[in-house]
Amino acid sequence: MCAEHIISQSRFSMLEGKIDSRILRNLKDMGFEKPTQIQAITLPHMLLDEDLIGAAKTGSGKTLAFLVPVVDKLIQMKFTKEKGVGCIIISPTRELALQTNEVLKMVLRDINLSYGLFVGGEKKLKETLLLQKGVNIVVGTPGRILDHLKSTEKFKCHNLKILILDEADKLLEAGFQNHIEGIIKKLPKNRQTVLFSATIDDKVENLARLALRSDPKLICIQDDK
Ligand code: ADP
Ligand code: MG
Repeated sequence: MCAEHIISQSRFSMLEGKIDSRILRNLKDMGFEKPTQIQAITLPHMLLDEDLIGAAKTGSGKTLAFLVPVVDKLIQMKFTKEKGVGCIIISPTRELALQTNEVLKMVLRDINLSYGLFVGGEKKLKETLLLQKGVNIVVGTPGRILDHLKSTEKFKCHNLKILILDEADKLLEAGFQNHIEGIIKKLPKNRQTVLFSATIDDKVENLARLALRSDPKLICIQDDK
């Protein structure tokens, strides 16, 4: 089922003209010159709005594999605060959501898109106020995101274009299947959904069947870096 092991020699600078130049500059400033395999192989599919499952071991760079195209696409779509949420990124734990949020902050330097972290343990009121002002990229844990979708009137997600299920194996291990089902029910159907995971098993495949459009691309990197 896996795509072939493809060795990529590309550099981020080769994406000039294809990806917003501020993103490329920010990647350079973060010290990244070459995309990892999962980043190089998933990027064109992500940019083409395809649903996909990206599997690669922990540490292979899956975070930027989705953050780079997400940010580029929302820039292209001219997302503003008034448009509300364009992308939701679901993480299994508060710590992972925090890490993703930190990377997002660096990718977004000098880019006018709003973002926010939505995790248990934080003050909900602060998050609610943020949602009222307008958040383009939501990073959070399933429980808190579902909570806001149910109870925060100003969680404007009718314009949502992309849903990312990050660390899907861990999401399921933590018992979040029902939360994710609840979130999906509240989101527009006409969206791109992308699932990243270190491992793929029957449970992850079932989640993909539930959340992704039929016939998603499966990209599986056996041995990155
Ligand atoms: P995963 O989600 O696959 O476990 P992460 O996205 O957390 O992996 O990335 C793992 C590490 O690799 C991080 O320290 C990150 O900064 C680094 N990294 C990501 N992309 C690149 C790249 N293109 N070149 C070098 N290092 C990278
Ligand atoms: Mg990860």
